Amino acid sequence: MEIVRTISWMKQAARNARQQERVLGLVPTMGALHEGHFSLIREAKKQCAPVAVSIFVNPTQFGPGEDLSKYPRTLDADRKALEDMAVDYLFAPTAEEMYPAGFRTAVHVEGLSERLEGKTRPGHFRGVATVVLKLFEIVQPNLAFFGRKDAQQARILRQMASDLNLDTQLVICPIVREPDGLARSSRNAYLKGDDRRAATALYRSLDAMQLEIGGGERDAARLLEVMRGALRSQPGVETDYAEIVDAETFEPAMALRKACYALIAARVGGTRLIDNALIEPEGDSLRVTL
Ligand code: AMP
Repeated sequence: MEIVRTISWMKQAARNARQQERVLGLVPTMGALHEGHFSLIREAKKQCAPVAVSIFVNPTQFGPGEDLSKYPRTLDADRKALEDMAVDYLFAPTAEEMYPAGFRTAVHVEGLSERLEGKTRPGHFRGVATVVLKLFEIVQPNLAFFGRKDAQQARILRQMASDLNLDTQLVICPIVREPDGLARSSRNAYLKGDDRRAATALYRSLDAMQLEIGGGERDAARLLEVMRGALRSQPGVETDYAEIVDAETFEPAMALRKACYALIAARVGGTRLIDNALIEPEGDSLRVTL
């Protein structure tokens, strides 16, 4: 595995791969790698060679007072895991390399970026879209792999790729969970003791919603009540939002006739967690994917 620190070196390596007509894959991450990331990398390895993984804790997607300075950084362990997975390139630039003095440009996907995560975290998706476009320009991957765990992010990046005629195709991979349902996240490292147990409330809320749908419930308002009720009944969990939205527009869904996401964000202790379930019409019934 080549460890690449500079943009010019990464561009050169990617150019070489493209000249050999190889299918180049990119998995963008912020590091503190876990099974969620590994599942993306395994999918990338199935579809691409070579595979580049980027590790960059992107400062512009963190708001003031968020966890940028304490975000887990485990580069040595990450590097070893990526080597074991036979990843070809680890691209780990510094913040100065990505944002040199005088940097002024941003990508903003209007509308989709202001709701839900964007409402609580103003500027977050502007930072995400900007860094992902930069990574796409540096690596010019044929395929880039993202997790459905960050469903709104995936939707915004797909819009960006379409609006800006990017050649990179996005592949969205399933959510990887702990045995008790908690979605894997680098931020789970913050959860200790009671908080760790309480954190499963997000999954349990989505699971309760799934059960209602299985029982024939089709009313979004009623399903929301069930989700919110499950979150409320767990001490130590403070719900930021629990919504059912159209999977395209991310506007509240009244009827479940098209694909929707049930989305949750909640604070457990000092840690902000997100999770979601995909709800899709399937014949006369609905398929729920947690
Ligand atoms: P992050 O390092 O948190 O920025 O995540 C990097 C990528 O991994 C994003 O596309 C995430 O959606 C994805 N990811 C994070 N956690 C999971 C998970 N539990 N299951 C699937 N994908 C995930």
